[in-house]
Amino acid sequence: MAGIYIHIPFCKQACHYCNFHFSTSLKYRADVVTAIVEEIALRHNYLKDKKISSVYFGGGTPSLLTIEELQSIFEQLQRYFQIAPDAEITLEANPDDLSLATLAAFKATPINRLSIGIQSFTEEDLRFMNRAHSAQEAQVCVELARQAGFDKLSIDLIYGTPTLTDAQWESNLATIFAQRVPHISCYCLTVEPNTALAHFVKTGKAAPVDEEKSTRHFEILLRAMEAHGYVQYEISNFALPGHYAKHNANYWLNVPYLGLGPSAHSFDGNSRQWNIANNAKYLKAISKPEENQLFEREVLQAVDRYNEYILTSLRTIWGCQLATIQEIDLKFGAYFLDKIKNYLDQALVLEEAATYRLSTSGKLLADRIAMELFWEEA
Ligand code: SF4
Repeated sequence: MAGIYIHIPFCKQACHYCNFHFSTSLKYRADVVTAIVEEIALRHNYLKDKKISSVYFGGGTPSLLTIEELQSIFEQLQRYFQIAPDAEITLEANPDDLSLATLAAFKATPINRLSIGIQSFTEEDLRFMNRAHSAQEAQVCVELARQAGFDKLSIDLIYGTPTLTDAQWESNLATIFAQRVPHISCYCLTVEPNTALAHFVKTGKAAPVDEEKSTRHFEILLRAMEAHGYVQYEISNFALPGHYAKHNANYWLNVPYLGLGPSAHSFDGNSRQWNIANNAKYLKAISKPEENQLFEREVLQAVDRYNEYILTSLRTIWGCQLATIQEIDLKFGAYFLDKIKNYLDQALVLEEAATYRLSTSGKLLADRIAMELFWEEA
């Protein structure tokens, strides 16, 4: 099995916190879609005839594409890949793009799952983030998606913003629970370099992230999810039983994937590669494939595989397995066992049958613990 990720690098406006690759000029949209169709043909051997279990349109804002543009990509995917009949085919969408007519048109394509970037239900919070949609659009989009026939739905929410009180965060979660959305991704606001938010914080126009508030919101989140029957299968991802996202799980379970479009990453089990993160240069690279300007590539060394495994597995419900670490190299197994003792003693990590998982208090320190378990070459 394998996955396909397609990056659509266009947005209506720039959210203040976002550091993904996108352009707010739609000038190259049709050209980029045509180039993605060509890239499918150019790179279809990358996954070596593996059956495709997941196709994911991310971005950017894939819901900005026309139905004809989406269909042209699907036709080419079907020409070159064997897509499993039960494949999960997800489109990331923003609430302001989701009229009933648009949703019905999406439903007539192979798309069978929507991941909606709601982020918040309060107007002040949405304006702080510079989201393109209103609180009203956030409120109605899940119901509209269901009316159009989408039952596989995922919602993104953001917590820890200066404009979100604890009570409002609880209310955002209650809104999603009332709608019984099967999959929810919740991210803590972070100030990424080279974003508008980083500039506002630097110039005093926005407060820095309040770590205590973020921690409180995370604790509220964990309690509320558990109370409503959601499984935290990764630190930021929650699902009702049976609704884990194949796309997300593929990343954490080392399943190979092909990334198409500007800035998209690919993984074949031994190496990673990443496409050029510039729309004009991407178009040029696709038009002249003989110049090899499309992507950079890195062959993973044993130490990279160990560090990546620690970073991803520890955050998941499947945990980090000693046997897998030892398969990479026995020296990492000995190193891991030595380092992990400290976290076991503090009950930040729990062990069961040589599988290691973060405890609830450990989840609050996930990044720090992973970094301290990393192997650094002398
Ligand atoms: S819509 Fe998504 S990709 Fe576009 S700027 Fe906002 S967060 Fe970033």
